[in-house]
Amino acid sequence: MQLQRFEFTQIRMGVDARIVVYAPDEDRAVRACRAAYARLSALEQIMSDYRTDSELNLVCQRAIGRWVKVSPELFYVLWRGQKLAEQTGGAFDVTIGALVRLWREARRTGKLPDEATLRTARARSGYSLMELSLPRRAVRLKADGMQLDLGGIAKGYACDWALRVLHKHGITRALIQMGGDIVAGDAPPGERGWRVELMEDGTILLSNTALSTSGSTEQFVEVDGVRYAHIIDPRTGLGLTKLVLARVRARDGITADSLATAAAVLGEPDAKRLERFYRNAHITVLTRELV
Ligand code: AMP
Ligand code: MG
Repeated sequence: MQLQRFEFTQIRMGVDARIVVYAPDEDRAVRACRAAYARLSALEQIMSDYRTDSELNLVCQRAIGRWVKVSPELFYVLWRGQKLAEQTGGAFDVTIGALVRLWREARRTGKLPDEATLRTARARSGYSLMELSLPRRAVRLKADGMQLDLGGIAKGYACDWALRVLHKHGITRALIQMGGDIVAGDAPPGERGWRVELMEDGTILLSNTALSTSGSTEQFVEVDGVRYAHIIDPRTGLGLTKLVLARVRARDGITADSLATAAAVLGEPDAKRLERFYRNAHITVLTRELV
């Protein structure tokens, strides 16, 4: 059967969500991709911290001091986030939402928070302040004003789901990209993989794998000549100030996405040590080559 290439782009989770598929005809491609985008919309409604009525934000309001049952999707992402927090000593931490909000404020005003404000936000952050119960599929938060933030892990997870939905529609030759997160299914017909351009060293071929890039080079706020990136260093409570680009290949998008964010915070050699927890994960951290 002759397969044709189809490509679509729609905005999800604040970024371009690009889906490329090979399908027997346009009708099949459109139907499958429509279903995949619908799934991405549903996940955005669960995980977004921008939408006041997202499941994530409702949980932040309700779960202070008491158990709140959550959807399987939200529970899984929080669980994976918490595991990575433990493995990284909190370098990756989904409870840093209060600090992320301060960073956004700094981006708006061009000023860093004062010490008292920073102290308050730090007291509301920290993975030991979030409890998860597997038997109840529930979350409990220990500090007032806590804000969860899945910006470092949800896009990769969403890409995994999109690929799964395409599979259900009989499409296996597909690539999904959301910002710096890519999930590749089977290769295009007659090729060994999907050709993906890397920022600084050529192209690579991907099939049945995920690739994520995180770093401090694209989103930052500059205050008094110092650049603070959108990735928070939980040790300071402020954005990363070093120049770093982390790239992770892993078996699925949720792993690649979360490890890339973690690796950007950790830097070498600690980032590389994470590979032992995740089979087939390959972590690269570039720092100097960029300047
Ligand atoms: P990424 O682009 O995947 O590296 O994710 C960056 C996003 O992750 C930020 O915009 C925040 O929403 C969130 N984030 C920032 N710092 C951290 C951190 N230390 N651990 C987990 N998530 C973070
Ligand atoms: Mg990430």
